[in-house]
Amino acid sequence: MSIFDKLVIHGLPLVPKFIVERFARPYVAGSTIEEAVKAIRSIMDEGAMATIDILGEEVSDRSVAMSYTNEYLEVFDVIASEGLDANVSIKPTMLGIKIDEAFCAENIDAIAAKAASMDNFLRIDMEDHTTTDPTLRIYRTMTERHGGHHVGVVLQAYMRRNIDDINNLLDLRPNIRMCKGIYREPRAVAWGAFETIRENFSYSVEKLLGAGSYVGIATHDPHLVWAAMSLVDRLGLTPDRYEFQVLYGVDPELRRIILDGGHRLRVYVPFGKDWYPYSMRRLRENPTIAKNVLLAMLGKKTL
Ligand SMILES: Cc1cc2nc3c(=O)[nH]c(=O)nc-3n(C[C@H](O)[C@H](O)[C@H](O)COP(=O)(O)OP(=O)(O)OC[C@H]3O[C@@H](n4cnc5c(N)ncnc54)[C@H](O)[C@@H]3O)c2cc1C
Repeated sequence: MSIFDKLVIHGLPLVPKFIVERFARPYVAGSTIEEAVKAIRSIMDEGAMATIDILGEEVSDRSVAMSYTNEYLEVFDVIASEGLDANVSIKPTMLGIKIDEAFCAENIDAIAAKAASMDNFLRIDMEDHTTTDPTLRIYRTMTERHGGHHVGVVLQAYMRRNIDDINNLLDLRPNIRMCKGIYREPRAVAWGAFETIRENFSYSVEKLLGAGSYVGIATHDPHLVWAAMSLVDRLGLTPDRYEFQVLYGVDPELRRIILDGGHRLRVYVPFGKDWYPYSMRRLRENPTIAKNVLLAMLGKKTL
């Protein structure tokens, strides 16, 4: 990424929301569950699966967290009634982890129980480092309560603690989505160098698969996709032992490449009204965004 791109990306919070929304649109399936269902049908036509995320985070009001919990319970009903090949992803800060851990655990417990009762699956996303310990504690409790086939969590390869976290979870034979990590973390907490994060990602995927865990390999980095493909070949794993995962709106051609290679693929499909923080994170990662945002602010046609 050039210095110019980095400057624009640092300035993104100053860009008017209506401009951000225009660029964010491809990353969000819509504002209603009906729009998400439509997007998932087309993902299923491609031969892929989905995980549904209701947009929202950093909730500080208990009643809001409880109403999101109820919305998630309904999402499982929609998955069943529409016959979708989909599971659900949640953000703990949306369900109250920064209000009170026990309160959040109760909300997640209700959603995990619903997932288990419908023989479906709940993925607990990982957010900034202040939530890592409580999220992993809640994940352990949910796995013990509802079984490892119904609940999984996310680990982030940029975290210095990542290898310790894997070691501490191995007794559960955890179901892990491995990603690089997207939050802005202090140096004390996270590795910063691109290659270190890549190597930690591959090391973690290998360690987890080698220990018999089911792994969601969540990346658009072609080098890491190749590394994972060569790893599953070396380990002689069948496609039911892992899946690749990508974000809605990012690199559709990579989706085709993964599926054509005979691998399972799941697309993360966010929908809802609270699109801004999620979209800002996606825009910060988009290598071609800087020029286009600038042109849009100047009222010029974008590429
Ligand atoms: C399914 C899924 C779930 C995730 N869940 C979490 C989570 O719970 N917690 C968390 O911290 N992070 C999560 N992430 C985000 C992740 O941590 C990374 O920030 C993100 O995936 C980008 O890293 P990358 O591995 O794709 O590599 P990068 O090096 O960032 O990207 C590789 C290539 O992908 C393309 N690309 C990546 N992002 C974009 C974009 N927005 N627009 C256009 N092109 C792009 C570019 O061509 C880039 O060169 C998730 C990612 C995925 C795929």
